[in-house]
Amino acid sequence: MLERRELFPGVIEMNYQARRRLGCCVYLVHSAGEWALIDIGYEDTVDEIIDLIRRMDFPLSACKAILVSHADADHVQGLPKLKTILPAARSLGHKLAAEALAGNDRILTYAEIPAQGISIHLPPMKLDGQIGEGDRVKVGELELVTWHTPGHTESQLAFQVGNLLFSGDNLFRDGCVGNIDAHHGSDIPAFIESLTRIRDSQVEWLLPSHGPAFRKDAKAIQSTIDRLVAYQHMADFGTCAIDWPLLEEWEAELGQKFDPVKAGPQKMLRM
Ligand SMILES: [Zn+2]
Repeated sequence: MLERRELFPGVIEMNYQARRRLGCCVYLVHSAGEWALIDIGYEDTVDEIIDLIRRMDFPLSACKAILVSHADADHVQGLPKLKTILPAARSLGHKLAAEALAGNDRILTYAEIPAQGISIHLPPMKLDGQIGEGDRVKVGELELVTWHTPGHTESQLAFQVGNLLFSGDNLFRDGCVGNIDAHHGSDIPAFIESLTRIRDSQVEWLLPSHGPAFRKDAKAIQSTIDRLVAYQHMADFGTCAIDWPLLEEWEAELGQKFDPVKAGPQKMLRM
C-alpha cells in the first residue's frame, strides 16, 4: 500500500500525494471507510489520480461524491472520464455550474478564449445533483458544509469541515485571487463579500484550488480585500468596476479652460 500523505487527518491532496504538479488541487476527504473528491482537474491526469487512490487502498466503490467547486475546464474536464470509473459517486455542484456544464457554455467555463486562440476539449456533462449555501455532504463521520462564495465566478463553492475550508479559487497563499473577468461572471463586490466572510469565519486553514494550503491570516486577507476595493473604481477592470472617478473629475473640469501648466502630469494611483 502507498503511504497516505495526509495534509490534515482525513484530507489528502493529490498533487502533494504525487509529489508533482498535476494541475488544480484535487482533494480526497475520507472518514469511516467512505471518501469523496473535491474537483478532478484535467482528463489526462484522471488515470494517475485513480491509480494513486487505489494504491492508497481506498475502495473505488466507497467514493460517495465528487464535489465540483465551480465549472472551469481546468477543474472539471476529467469529470466524464472519472464518472465512467466511479459510476456510483454523485457529482454535485452549484446550480449555475450545472447549467454551464450541461449547456456546454464554452466561454463561461474557460474552454474557449477566442481572442487568445485557446480552445480545449470540454464535453457537455450533466451533474448528478445540485448543492448550494448551507447544504451538507456527509462522508463517513465528517460533514462538509457548502458555502456559496461568488466573485471569481457566480457558481463558486467552498466547503467547510471543522476548522478547514476548501476555499476554491477565492484566495491563494500569495494573496492573489481567482481571475477577475467579465466573461466569466466575475463580480468584484460579491468577491469582497466572500473574502470578508472567509476573513471573519472561525476557519483556521484554507485549502485552495491552486497552490499550497495555508493558515488563514485576517490581516493578509484584508490587504487582498483592500486591493479589490480599489479595483472597483479602476478602468483596468472594465465592466467589472462599479465606477471610474476620473470621469467625474473630468466632467467638473470640462467647464474650465484647459491650462497646460495647471493640468500637470499623470497622478500616482493610490490603492
Ligand atoms: Zn481555478
